[in-house]
Amino acid sequence: MTDQPSLPHQPDCLFCKIVSGDVPATIVRETDTTVAFRDINPQAPTHILVIPRAHYPDAAALSAAEPAVAADVLREAGEIAAEEGIAETGYRVVFNTGSGAGQTVFHAHAHVLGGRGLQWPPG
Ligand code: 5GP
Ligand code: ZN
Repeated sequence: MTDQPSLPHQPDCLFCKIVSGDVPATIVRETDTTVAFRDINPQAPTHILVIPRAHYPDAAALSAAEPAVAADVLREAGEIAAEEGIAETGYRVVFNTGSGAGQTVFHAHAHVLGGRGLQWPPG
């Protein structure tokens, strides 16, 4: 037996380390396939990241490989919005994809942002 996870995992990935518990985070919800935690540098009163436990570099790779887990991420985003009390006022779910769009951590993640007015189009 080995204690290596069977899920796709990158040893140098920050979010894989949050999944494994090697890097601490303020976790708000967990499922068999996802983990959600507060962003360390919040851009809104509510700013939570929802990630798959498995490592995929972005949302497109996740949804191509494991569409059911991509759906889990979206469902969790909605559950979190309801729990945080931002579902009624409105919130945004964002997948920055690629460095030109601001992606800095290459483990797929949804940003759930709310609790203030959000401008459109985004910057
Ligand atoms: P991206 O820029 O890739 O779309 O989003 C990455 C997010 O991860 C950023 O909003 C950033 O603030 C957040 N982040 C970076 N490092 C950490 C960390 O160590 N802990 C937590 N909770 N969030 C982090
Ligand atoms: Zn990862």
